[in-house]
Amino acid sequence: MSSPSTSLDAALAQVFGFSGFRGGQREVVQALLDGHSAMAIFPTGSGKSLCYQLAATQLPHLTLLISPLLALMRDQLAFLQAKGIAAAAIDSTQSRDEAQRVMADARAGRLKVLMVSVERLKNERFRRFIAEVPLSLLVVDEAHCISEWGHNFRPDYLKLPQYRQQLNIPQVLLLTATATPAVMQDMARRFDIAPEHVTVTGFYRPNLHLHVRAVAQADKDAMLLQLLGRTPGAACVVYVTQQQTAETLAARLQAQGIAAAAYHAGLDSELRERIQDDFMRGATPVIVATIAFGMGIDKGDIRQVIHYDLPKSVENYSQEIGRAGRDGELSLCTLLGNRDGLHVLENFVYGDTPQWASIRHVLQRIRDEAQNGQWEMTLYGLSADSNIRQLPLKTLLVYLEVQGVLQAQYSYYSEYRFQLREDEDALLAHFKDERREFVAALLAHSKLGRSWHAFDFESFLQAFPGQRQRAVTALEFMDERGWLTLETKQMTEVYAVSDAAFDVEALAASLHAQFQAREDSELARLQQMLRLFETETCLSYALASYFGDAAAPRECGHCLACRGKPARLPAAPALPTLHADGMRAALASLAEKLGDEPDAHLAACFLCGITLPLLTKLRASRLPGFGQLARYPFAEVRAALR
Ligand SMILES: [Zn+2]
Repeated sequence: MSSPSTSLDAALAQVFGFSGFRGGQREVVQALLDGHSAMAIFPTGSGKSLCYQLAATQLPHLTLLISPLLALMRDQLAFLQAKGIAAAAIDSTQSRDEAQRVMADARAGRLKVLMVSVERLKNERFRRFIAEVPLSLLVVDEAHCISEWGHNFRPDYLKLPQYRQQLNIPQVLLLTATATPAVMQDMARRFDIAPEHVTVTGFYRPNLHLHVRAVAQADKDAMLLQLLGRTPGAACVVYVTQQQTAETLAARLQAQGIAAAAYHAGLDSELRERIQDDFMRGATPVIVATIAFGMGIDKGDIRQVIHYDLPKSVENYSQEIGRAGRDGELSLCTLLGNRDGLHVLENFVYGDTPQWASIRHVLQRIRDEAQNGQWEMTLYGLSADSNIRQLPLKTLLVYLEVQGVLQAQYSYYSEYRFQLREDEDALLAHFKDERREFVAALLAHSKLGRSWHAFDFESFLQAFPGQRQRAVTALEFMDERGWLTLETKQMTEVYAVSDAAFDVEALAASLHAQFQAREDSELARLQQMLRLFETETCLSYALASYFGDAAAPRECGHCLACRGKPARLPAAPALPTLHADGMRAALASLAEKLGDEPDAHLAACFLCGITLPLLTKLRASRLPGFGQLARYPFAEVRAALR
């Protein structure tokens, strides 16, 4: 009989055709096959996906993978299918038939891996389906999204431990490329992962030469051209903060005869795909991109990554430079650094802190609207009504869950509509007796438009009290049979309110303090990032230490700090003093639209160009004065207005 390790090697060779494990992979797979949960922190491109892929082929039941990005899912799917592993995804772009086929395969035990987005788990139809499928392993890709102290917190991820319990999934594997020691601890605690099953491989990549060049804003273009001139025709990515900069900078490079293209989330997906293809096959070597570019891009020969603006965080910086030199060849990563863009980054943070009055408004609504211990809401409606952006609003609701005020029960689509695929008589002929009468009632309570029936829950529930679930099940059943096509819209979340007698004022104050602490920590993280770029010790070493990698060499030998000349990022040029009269004039258009004087917070957001739901509703970005003080620190503008 072969030893466990050689049988793992055999599986690796047989299924994937690889002759050996890369660093860390064996430990992770072994922990999973021994029945433990595990966490793998590997830099991008170092084979962390293989850990779950190999484990999935050896575990008895289905592996459920939560992935944040369609592009990532598609790449992994193509890889698994090429290796003959039964894998599938359910995503929003699929037809009804495709999704049904995948679900049927999963139910029948014909799949080893199923990939979905975290949002899919909020769908009651999906949860009911997956609860019936035996699962071996839950894999969370980009798992740092679960930590509030990480760089890309996604409130929905905080509920994953709960889903895991509800769905009874015995084991978990968390995967990420970027997590500080504090974030790792937070992740491990939430999923009960023992320290000995956490595997961290090194962050240091000797072929990446990291540089910080201190440069005034006016001199950046010249320096960029000089840098691009070092690797003519080679693949380079230039990162900028704002979509507008991507466009104008790409145009300036084109004017200099460089084949460059802009890439950002504001472009339609077809165009983005074409730009990405051109880049992959080398037709457009230089991409000027926002943060939207890079996830799921696997191009080995990117010779330079240049940060024209400050990155959003150390984690973003690490991921972005990590796209260079995957082929192991020497590659340059240069940051063109000064403090001019700092306020733009800070403004992203300020816009995500809800005001006290807004928090109180949400609490008051819970108090007023809770009935029989239940409260319902739609995110879009509550966001517009409370003037809290959707992401912080989700965070607020998760906070209330953690404090035990609310408990998420289920979500449902409050709008159902369907199109009959056969006539009413033929549809009714499928049923007998009481069931037939029930289906007839469903049709009777639906209003026919041009070709779609809108199901009227309210009138139906008056005639059939308490039969909501049965109606939904019947509609889904007919949809599955292909007798009608069902569509759902407008997700309503239902919460249990454990105690509606909470003290609105006190709770609003403590929640506001909690958001304030987050804001402080995010602002501090930006300062920490600047300190890292001005490091007196080796930049590569400082970066590796930030991520808890103790094995990195202390000196790379070529960064500025190693050469004894640490970078000093120049301060932003002094701005003219703020004048109350000028600000009032700039606010006139907003006051007119609002029909009232805006408070200091709203006014400061307007002047600094920070969007809030209320400003979006007023189409404030088209008014004169919007963003007029975007280069000023928000806190200063707000203080001046007060
Ligand atoms: Zn160095």
